[in-house]
Amino acid sequence: CGIVGYVGNSSRRADAGHSALDVVLEGLRRLEYRGYDSAGVAVVADGTIASRKKSGKLSNLLNELEDNPLPESLTGIGHTRWATHGGPTDQNAHPHLADGGRLAMIHNGIIENFAELKQELVAKGVTFASETDTEVAAALLGDIFRNQLKGDSSNGKLTKAMQLACQRLEGAFTLLAVHAERPDVVVAARRNSPLVVGLGEGENFLGSDVSGFIDHTRRAVELGQDQIVTITADSVEITDFFGAPAEGKEYHVDWDP
Ligand code: GLU
Repeated sequence: CGIVGYVGNSSRRADAGHSALDVVLEGLRRLEYRGYDSAGVAVVADGTIASRKKSGKLSNLLNELEDNPLPESLTGIGHTRWATHGGPTDQNAHPHLADGGRLAMIHNGIIENFAELKQELVAKGVTFASETDTEVAAALLGDIFRNQLKGDSSNGKLTKAMQLACQRLEGAFTLLAVHAERPDVVVAARRNSPLVVGLGEGENFLGSDVSGFIDHTRRAVELGQDQIVTITADSVEITDFFGAPAEGKEYHVDWDP
């Protein structure tokens, strides 16, 4: 039950330990204390999403990454799962992909209305690879991005899609999404579930709590209820679920891990 997100810029990548994958794995290690049964990561690289996920301890994921390494990347997300819908299998582990593999989503919490949304999406021809509520949210976001926002070529397209998706989701969720067509952005949302932004220089972070990025920055922004945040390497933008600009509360983290 931990979430980490990262976007850096290319000068940051030159520094040791600042590839998206390194930052995300380190964050997941710090969040292990929350408990989990599976772990997974996704990065955006060369116009595609690459993802690895495994049930069991983080070490299983690390072994998988050794056997099947991910490409270098500046944008990544990572997840530790505490299964609520679907057993703790590799297939049910996050990230979940949608939009033909171009979108990856991770989620902590429960989507209460997943069954009716799933029915709706299945009727549209969407197929599912897991038993999770999360994959339904991923498919909904993918459908909105691909179909409802078809004519939208703006930078904010993934954010807009997340707003529209969140308007339809019920329950408790921290969601993070990346899309191959918006490679320098991570979009996140929260309702009744924690999400904190970490402010860096030429890089920004997301975490279910500050442990997810404590090794990199002590400047944190707590999101309010029902907010969406879009991070790039040099920007953090917060809105509500309807696109109205919102403010987070910045604070300094003064404890040591
Ligand atoms: N409900 C989701 C699942 O079972 C997320 C669980 C979690 O919070 O890790 O996959």
